[in-house]
Amino acid sequence: MDNNTSLIGRIERGEDISAEELSRLISSHTAEDLDYICGKANAVRKRIYGDDIYVRGLIEFTNYCRNDCLYCGIRRSNKNADRYRLTREQILDCCETGYVLGFRTFVLQGGEDGFYSDDDICRIVSEIKEKYPDCAVTLSIGEKSRESYRAYYNAGADRYLLRHETADNAHYAKLHPNELSLENRKRCLYDLKDIGYQTGSGFMVGSPYQTADTLAEDMLFLKELDPHMVGIGPFIPHHDTPFAAEKAGTLELTLFMVALTRLMLPHALIPATTALGTVAFDGRERGILAGANVVMPNLSPRDVRKKYLLYDNKICTGDEAAECRSCLERRMNGIGCRIAVTRGDYKQ
Ligand code: SAM
Repeated sequence: MDNNTSLIGRIERGEDISAEELSRLISSHTAEDLDYICGKANAVRKRIYGDDIYVRGLIEFTNYCRNDCLYCGIRRSNKNADRYRLTREQILDCCETGYVLGFRTFVLQGGEDGFYSDDDICRIVSEIKEKYPDCAVTLSIGEKSRESYRAYYNAGADRYLLRHETADNAHYAKLHPNELSLENRKRCLYDLKDIGYQTGSGFMVGSPYQTADTLAEDMLFLKELDPHMVGIGPFIPHHDTPFAAEKAGTLELTLFMVALTRLMLPHALIPATTALGTVAFDGRERGILAGANVVMPNLSPRDVRKKYLLYDNKICTGDEAAECRSCLERRMNGIGCRIAVTRGDYKQ
């Protein structure tokens, strides 16, 4: 048995692996290692979640953002972004469409937009929960105070997605403006978990200045945080950002990191991301076969979809919610899985 195969075996058995070992595995893995780790990760997914793939209806309700992350198409200095906000009624309409289509989780995602007060967010969350008591509400609206997170939780929010982006301080500083810090990002994640949210973290693969060492740190941070959800997608450049000329992350390395995550956090809810579907036509199917168990079709109104452009060539921006839902159903059935009409909570 070669070195990488035996290391993958140790990870699968839940043994502690050092940063050096992880970095070596990430930088030296071969195409055969990728097949091997995906096979293992897919088997773990099946053992814990069976052939059920959970769906989340993604509602991108604002593309205004006060932050200026260098990789992101909706950063505040992108003057070419065509900004929009959805009203409470529009958000509720998206949920209604989604409920009929079998969605039992709604994800409200947006830039960090001060237009919506904490009271506004709480009111939207509690109205969704009142109308659809059998549904989960996930928020993904960035870094807030512990008090704000607590208020949304008390209003009924069940889950929160906040990728840590990179667990290396120097790398974090190269991707973000000075006013943002990894320390505060981590504080948010620990607050969210402590309050009781099913908490999601994650990172982009192939972001500028990323190395096998920083990816190893990402994995060790995830192991320590032990989140319920982990979002991993390739970095894809956006033409109106400082990273416009950078290379996108690869399908292969993203699949490797998804599979590694499934082995290190066997119970995690892991989406096969839209970004993965953007770098390869069958990227989401391959993500599932690498151990992912969630898909997040878009429920945003069709006329705003092209405006929530985090990166270039984003897929599904011209489709109706129902088209996205049936397309994903076909894709999942094609690999022997089925979309489950359920909240799709974390399995202990
Ligand atoms: N504002 C919230 C936050 O910061 O978590 C949620 C919205 S933010 C746009 C959602 C995620 O998009 C980020 O966590 C980041 O990983 C991802 N993202 C942004 N720009 C991207 C790019 N160019 N390529 C791939 N993913 C990107």
